[in-house]
Amino acid sequence: MSKDYYKILGVDKSASQDDIKKAFRKLAHEHHPDKGGSEAKFKEINEAYQALGDAEKRARYDQYGSADGPQGFGGAGGFPGGFDPSAFGDLGDIFGSFFGGSTGGRGRSPKGDDVEMEVFMTFKESIFGVAKEISLNKTNTCARCGGQGAEPGTKLKECATCKGKGFTIANQRTILGSVQMRVACTDCDGRGEKPEKACTECRGEGTSRGRKTLRVDIPAGVEDGMQMRVRGEGESIGTQGEPGDLYLRLRVSPDPRFGREGTTLYVTKKVGFTQAALGDTVTVDTVDGPVSMKIPPGTQSGDELRLRGKGVPSNRGRGDQIVIVKVITPQKLDKDARRLLEELNLREE
Ligand SMILES: [Zn+2]
Ligand SMILES: [Zn+2]
Repeated sequence: MSKDYYKILGVDKSASQDDIKKAFRKLAHEHHPDKGGSEAKFKEINEAYQALGDAEKRARYDQYGSADGPQGFGGAGGFPGGFDPSAFGDLGDIFGSFFGGSTGGRGRSPKGDDVEMEVFMTFKESIFGVAKEISLNKTNTCARCGGQGAEPGTKLKECATCKGKGFTIANQRTILGSVQMRVACTDCDGRGEKPEKACTECRGEGTSRGRKTLRVDIPAGVEDGMQMRVRGEGESIGTQGEPGDLYLRLRVSPDPRFGREGTTLYVTKKVGFTQAALGDTVTVDTVDGPVSMKIPPGTQSGDELRLRGKGVPSNRGRGDQIVIVKVITPQKLDKDARRLLEELNLREE
């Protein structure tokens, strides 16, 4: 595991996204180099927030110790070691001055609400990954016009009201006198252009209300409670801005046979007295199905035997399964068995 980002931000592993954001904000202000803070410390805080501030990257970090692996989890490519201004959203103001970036460049474009829902899966599905169909009722981006509000085949033309600028100037009276303010053009929702002909499906709004079914690929190795982001599948606001995101909270039903810690699986295997003493070949459950395994002679209760590559898949290959042997001491002995054991007289002093 690389750096402990939770420690850096001073939050608990179970902290909510909101708590993480709050902790980050506080630290970023405290350690801002412009306010005399240490640049190294500030960068470290920034790095931690890049990994944990995004639910999807956080899930990867929780599992793999890095916000970049495994491949194929979600879409975001990541900016290894670099600075990803988009990770900050409305925190751009803090960074604009330090990184000299244009994080807030275009002002805050409106975004639809995020949607959260739970996705349920079996233990085995969580290990190997699964494609899930999920269905949700929300405001969707109009499929006919792709949210642009224009009838397919027609163009967008410059908005006559704002002359393509996307805003109009309004005079506002304040205690300091009259101030000129830019106000987003209501005619074109600030886009500066309008459809030549409004989409017949959404009447130019760019949205449609209703049930939408999505196919989501849940990657291998996820755990109960992880969150996964599906970009752009939250509430749509059509021509007025970006759609929100869909956050999937993964719910894994446990399998009583298996314990899990990271990429290692644990099972308990009961063996008899004689099998433990003399050795045997037994059948053990794995997530791939039953496999046979050798119990070496002289195995003690509590001994751990390793089945390589039978654990949880990750970008470093598959983990192992540990088989914890439990030797069962006979409780009911018939006369003969009792006599034989007495004869053996196995004792520890
Ligand atoms: Zn439309
Ligand atoms: Zn306009």
